Amino acid sequence: MESILIVDDDINLCHVLKDELEEVGYEVGFVNSGIDVLQALKKRHVDLLLLDLKMPGKNGFEVLKDLSDNSIKIKVIVLTAYADVKSAIDSAKLGASDFISKPYDFDELLITIRKVLQKDT
Ligand SMILES: [Mg+2]
Repeated sequence: MESILIVDDDINLCHVLKDELEEVGYEVGFVNSGIDVLQALKKRHVDLLLLDLKMPGKNGFEVLKDLSDNSIKIKVIVLTAYADVKSAIDSAKLGASDFISKPYDFDELLITIRKVLQKDT
């Protein structure tokens, strides 16, 4: 079973999205702060991060930098209300595979998740 970690300070979104993704067969966990990501990745195998950009404490860009600084190769889809071209380009430069804007359309998100998980590397 493929494992997804949601990283978003919106706790309600985390619960809703976790339920939706579990219903279609993924193993899903979440953390509500960018600060907790590295620790969470040590505890369990994760195939894909769904990463919010705007979070207090440590934002999504900083999380992407942490992953790269620690040579952690993991697929990342950036999920953010800040759906602008610059954020998308900046996230891609920092290693994100794809970009979905909030409020998300679940079918669109699922297509993107499947596409990203199928890709090699
Ligand atoms: Mg946020």
